[in-house]
Amino acid sequence: MYKKISARYVLGFDGTRHTLIEDGEVVFEGDSIVFVGRNYQGPVDEDRDYGQSLVMPGLIDLDALADIDHLILDSWPSPDVAAGHLWSDDYFANRRRDVFTPSERATVREFALAQLALHGITTYMPIGSEIHSSWAEGLDELVDVAEISRRIGLRGYLGPAYRSGVHVITAAGDREVHFDEDKGLAGLRDAERFMDYAAGRTDPLVTGVLLPCRIETLSEDLMRETARIARERDALVRLHCLQSPLEDEFLQRSAGRGVLELLGSTGLFSTRLLIPHGVVINAKDPASSAPGGPLDLLARHGVSIVHCPLTSFRYQKQLVSFDRFREAGINLCLGTDSFPPDLVRGMDLGMHLTRMAEGRPDAGALADYFDAATLGGARALGRADLGRLSPGMQADITVVSLGSFGDGVIEDPLRTLVLNGTARQVTDTFVAGRPVVAGGVLPGIDLDALRAEAQRLFAKMRAAYSERDAQLREPDVLFPPTYPRADIADPIAVP
Ligand SMILES: [Zn+2]
Repeated sequence: MYKKISARYVLGFDGTRHTLIEDGEVVFEGDSIVFVGRNYQGPVDEDRDYGQSLVMPGLIDLDALADIDHLILDSWPSPDVAAGHLWSDDYFANRRRDVFTPSERATVREFALAQLALHGITTYMPIGSEIHSSWAEGLDELVDVAEISRRIGLRGYLGPAYRSGVHVITAAGDREVHFDEDKGLAGLRDAERFMDYAAGRTDPLVTGVLLPCRIETLSEDLMRETARIARERDALVRLHCLQSPLEDEFLQRSAGRGVLELLGSTGLFSTRLLIPHGVVINAKDPASSAPGGPLDLLARHGVSIVHCPLTSFRYQKQLVSFDRFREAGINLCLGTDSFPPDLVRGMDLGMHLTRMAEGRPDAGALADYFDAATLGGARALGRADLGRLSPGMQADITVVSLGSFGDGVIEDPLRTLVLNGTARQVTDTFVAGRPVVAGGVLPGIDLDALRAEAQRLFAKMRAAYSERDAQLREPDVLFPPTYPRADIADPIAVP
């Protein structure tokens, strides 16, 4: 069955780079693209013209929020409540629990994956929050995620997150990582079993990967075992590190070595490694690119940096800079990491932060950012058939409308999208040739009902912060409203 889609703009791939085709056409059969260009003459069974739209490769999000967002709660704490967002050591030792039931957790996942799809993401590697779980993610939970992902039709690189340590605030108010090694190793066993499950499904849209939690929550043994299994199975590893100077401090205490040393000594550098976020490296410091410096090490080991501009920014961090990492030969890909999973806004912010970091208006080129969201992601995954529209490639396609009055004027369609718009202009997507988003909705999912249920679960999640706080403070104290809430029993008097 040959499907032809056409639009005012098509972003094709000429073998070397993305290239803009005006009044272009893409034809695919099954999961593969057979034609990109103009004046296609071959067979067509289904034909669709998207008009004033941009047809582009599907976006690849390698740190994709697969949860209800917590950034909206915890990215702006005042010093007196910041500690209350973590687990108290009493909660860790005596009262740890799952905030959600397995079926509620599945609803949360459906909500999050639906969000990814509606924001034009076609391939993703999930990130959940462990804060509202009794430890981390388990096998059953990820099997549920995989089934939801398959039902929606996204291409997922999945695995349960595991860790042997948790950040806690002690009664004295100190931040520490408390370890339970058995839980870490059990988590890794679940991760292996999930990889077996994924291999057994033989669904090209589900691939098992190793997704340990933040590096300072892993014991040295857990890192070493992760590296061994990754090499044995040729599996991808994504490891959050180089995102906070605290990591080195904690790791010196638990393992007697810092992040970069441990990546080398445990064998993680010799795996297919993805690292979100890299923001502790200052690439403007000449020492960072000197032989043996962090940029040199990352480049030499073929590490991909998952750059999440919007989330880093909201936690007061930025990559310094995207251009210098690129110039050092490091593969850059993008992630959203928190809500909204909007890589268009991410690219916009990232470009402008790069310009500021470099002090030049031509730094942080949009083409480089768009490459990261497509080709860079594909490269990190080792998939030369993703992230580009040309014959023989996977038909992973995102259609963005540029047809609304509010879009303003079109100069260059990508510039108009990124400077004037958001990923919510996505109207349609295809993954492996199958429609996922159609006309701005997800066929088969009642988005209103799903949103109402997610709102209920969010309230539950927000309330549960109180029981983890060492001082057991009320949610409205931990997360004060922007303005005080008016008491409706006592109407506001207008003088
Ligand atoms: Zn992250």
